[in-house]
Amino acid sequence: MSSTYLHTSIEYLKGVGPARADLLRKELGIRTLADLANFFPNRYIDRTQFLTIKQLQQNASEVQVIGKITELKTVQQKRGTRLVATFTDKTGTMELVWFRGAKWIKENLKVNTPYVAFGRVNWFHGQFNMPHPDLELVTEYKKGLQTTMQPVYPSTENLTNKGVTNKAIVKMMKHLFVAVNTTFEETLSKELLDKLQLISKSEALLNIHFPKNQQLLTKAQQRLKFEELFFIQLQLIRKKLIHKSKIKGNVFEKVGSYFNKFYNNNIPFELTNAQKRVLKEIRKDVKSGAQMNRLLQGDVGSGKTIVALLTMLMALDNGFQAALIAPTEILATQHYNAILALLHGLDIHIDLLTGSVKTKKRKEIHERLENGSLHILIGTHALLEDKVQFKNLGLAIIDEQHRFGVAQRAKMWMKGSRPDGELKKAIPPHILVMTATPIPRTLAMSVYGDLDISVIDELPPGRKQIITAHRYDSNRLSVFKFMKEEIAKGRQVYVVYPLIEESQKLDFKDLMDGYDSITREFPKPDYQISIVHGKMKGADKEFEMNRFLKGETQIMVATTVIEVGVNIRNASVMVIESAERFGLSQLHQLRGRVGRGAEQSYCILMTSFKLTADAKIRLETMVNTNDGFEIAEVDLKLRGPGDLMGTQQSGVLNLRIADIIKDAPILKRARELAIEVLYKDPNLENTANKNIKKTYRQITKNRAIWANIS
Ligand code: ADP
Ligand code: MG
Repeated sequence: MSSTYLHTSIEYLKGVGPARADLLRKELGIRTLADLANFFPNRYIDRTQFLTIKQLQQNASEVQVIGKITELKTVQQKRGTRLVATFTDKTGTMELVWFRGAKWIKENLKVNTPYVAFGRVNWFHGQFNMPHPDLELVTEYKKGLQTTMQPVYPSTENLTNKGVTNKAIVKMMKHLFVAVNTTFEETLSKELLDKLQLISKSEALLNIHFPKNQQLLTKAQQRLKFEELFFIQLQLIRKKLIHKSKIKGNVFEKVGSYFNKFYNNNIPFELTNAQKRVLKEIRKDVKSGAQMNRLLQGDVGSGKTIVALLTMLMALDNGFQAALIAPTEILATQHYNAILALLHGLDIHIDLLTGSVKTKKRKEIHERLENGSLHILIGTHALLEDKVQFKNLGLAIIDEQHRFGVAQRAKMWMKGSRPDGELKKAIPPHILVMTATPIPRTLAMSVYGDLDISVIDELPPGRKQIITAHRYDSNRLSVFKFMKEEIAKGRQVYVVYPLIEESQKLDFKDLMDGYDSITREFPKPDYQISIVHGKMKGADKEFEMNRFLKGETQIMVATTVIEVGVNIRNASVMVIESAERFGLSQLHQLRGRVGRGAEQSYCILMTSFKLTADAKIRLETMVNTNDGFEIAEVDLKLRGPGDLMGTQQSGVLNLRIADIIKDAPILKRARELAIEVLYKDPNLENTANKNIKKTYRQITKNRAIWANIS
């Protein structure tokens, strides 16, 4: 069937019409016949199995019962009427109930005539009832196709209410298959089909909607999953290739005296092999002539900062400026102080720009940036303001990227160097995004397919594993005792409380109550306590944070404001209150605040006795492993990819049939083959690839998958 026909509006399919077409578009995004063909069932049910009323169980699954309606009555309710039918077979009676459309349904029902009733049953007032059943006369049912695999399509309440039931969708699908004579255009090349032994598109569509048997269904699923993932990968990889060839970047030709002096005299430790490898990857990018767009992943404490600094020195050695942006003022300040200390004795000018920098100083920074006398600027969002203009920014580093959106990255991009002063000719700075949120490889591939990824997968030597324990609230006294022992050894302790938007008031009370009990248990003058929470002014937070940083206080009571990046080497205990309320990645980030020095560190997860199954898995995972990637995998399984950083924006994960976790092997294969196809035929010009090209065009025409900057 020709593709033009498949792209006609669904409205013209037999039994649809304008009203239903509108509904299908709004509720399911189905506009054309092709859209309908690619609307897949999410499961299948066995319509050859029947239960008697006596056999029914309260397990909320769908059942099929044959019986007769022996009585029909309309019950008046506060809101409209309810239609109740008594449904009887040889073994007992149940009720069929309609809350909507009572009048219309009543007129069309036949009493004392055998029906097949299909639906979920509820146990209510000592009897089973089936709300809004699918009803079919037994005589009609027998004429139809009884199958062990009847498709069940995803639906919405609005659709069912307006009569577009599953049965109606199946019917449309049948009309569609008749109209196109079960022929659909092939989207993959013969080579791919042969290589992977995939069934044709037509066969796959037929069997996904009307499977003849389990084996064919599986084949259909395999084929359609591969196709879906293949075209996503094709887009991502093609985009990356285009980017590489088209987006010009500043060339950092040499490694010069800043880098070498620093490396020979200042660097306080030997780089780990992982750090060295990552630096090589970056080095290759920045001298290539194309713009670098690289994501640097490394678990908390893996030493990303030094990599950032060395990369900045490469920029400086080639006459460029560099910028480093952090998500919070505390973190920016910490980076600034750490880098300032590391650079001592080198003739490098560096400054800090945050929201609390006074106007006069700010003006001065602007001037020095524009005349080029400032080499490195470290800061927060304040750095993104339009007023902040560089003379020749060659590199922008963004730390802890999940706090920043795509739009902000785009702003950095616009601050690129302008050798001849013209905006149009601006060369974007190289961009290095650093994140401590480990993204499982499978996911990173799909979400950041157009970014290059470097991973620091090794911690600096001498780090001790953090010991993690789960304790119940009732054990609090022994936890206090342990804290005292650690403090007596000269260590510092964090106590963290959740603060969740929706229950802010209650959470705040918990925090304050906790603070009170800790001040009672750890009285002055023996103990000094800091507190930091979101309601405090920036300057007050800073003050408290600094007292802890300088070792003037031993305990830091805080909400998750300390979640990101602070580096206090002497802190060795992290107590997390109501740990069951934190997500896994948050727990892992928090735990990463300790274990930064040479001491043995501990993380104590406090919870109540009431724990959900998921919470138990989270706690167990934390106790069992320190490996951020392993934790991310569990997190992904528990929450699904939708909640992970960045995935909402990408839209890549709105998959129709494939599952990014379960189908990871197919994803891997799809990626390999997409690379292979594009390697041999970058513009898909070979006739052998004409199906692929046509589909690719269609997809990219329909949705531009993402903006230039990812
Ligand atoms: P993160 O990746 O979490 O940003 P940091 O860059 O803050 O980690 O590094 C954590 C700590 O480890 C810092 O105190 C840093 O000085 C130290 N560090 C980094 N690299 C090494 C190394 N190769 N050897 C020893 N210590 C290192
Ligand atoms: Mg860091």
